[in-house]
Amino acid sequence: MSKKIIIAIDGPAASGKSSAAKYLAEKLGFTYLDTGAMYRAVTYLVLKNNIQNDTKAIVELVKNLDIRLEFKNGVTNVFVNGEDVTDFIRSPEVSSMVSEVSVIPEVRSELVKLQRKIGENVDIVAEGRDTTTVVFPNADLKVFLTADIDERAKRRFEEYLSKGRKVAFEDVRANLSKRDRIDSSREHSPLSKADDAFELDTTNLTIDEEIQKIIDRVKQIKFVKELNT
Ligand code: C5P
Repeated sequence: MSKKIIIAIDGPAASGKSSAAKYLAEKLGFTYLDTGAMYRAVTYLVLKNNIQNDTKAIVELVKNLDIRLEFKNGVTNVFVNGEDVTDFIRSPEVSSMVSEVSVIPEVRSELVKLQRKIGENVDIVAEGRDTTTVVFPNADLKVFLTADIDERAKRRFEEYLSKGRKVAFEDVRANLSKRDRIDSSREHSPLSKADDAFELDTTNLTIDEEIQKIIDRVKQIKFVKELNT
């Protein structure tokens, strides 16, 4: 089997990971792997089963998880234990709990196993918090995105509004800030920049500018022969 290409993009919430990862995956014909969607799906089940205070039950749940991601028309459809949870995993309730669930080492190790399995058979563009450092340390290209917290809060707030969700800007900002803190300070696989990652601050960039800068790096990957930009 020929070597599979892996592009990994990490960064805090609303730093521009999804837009870039989706674009590249579609452009290159690679599989898009949204690892955050997996942590969100587990969190959705935790809330549904009301086991947020029972780590043992959460570990049991994640060990018996049947999770499937299907990327279609720009959306990652997520199915867990046969249930389509796509519409629920980005709710404010899940967003406010997901970082706490993601701290649990067994949750991480089970999901990392699944993520690596996906990367065994297909070329992928993966995005998350630890895809460049833990999941795919040998990725062909590693990108680390950052952006100012106010700019990120504005992006996420506008995203909620465009979907008709009523949220307060301050709540959105507080959630991002809380997740930044938990995701960056946890003991197991915290969000951090890999030494060999290309770092890009997207605060003052349009999506097109950001994508173009990443494409310039993608073109340097030995195996990517053609990329129409
Ligand atoms: O990428 P997204 O913002 O949807 O991720 C939701 C949460 O899932 C993050 O705030 C983080 O707590 C967790 N996560 C993680 N590791 C990943 C991807 C996401 O811990 N690789």
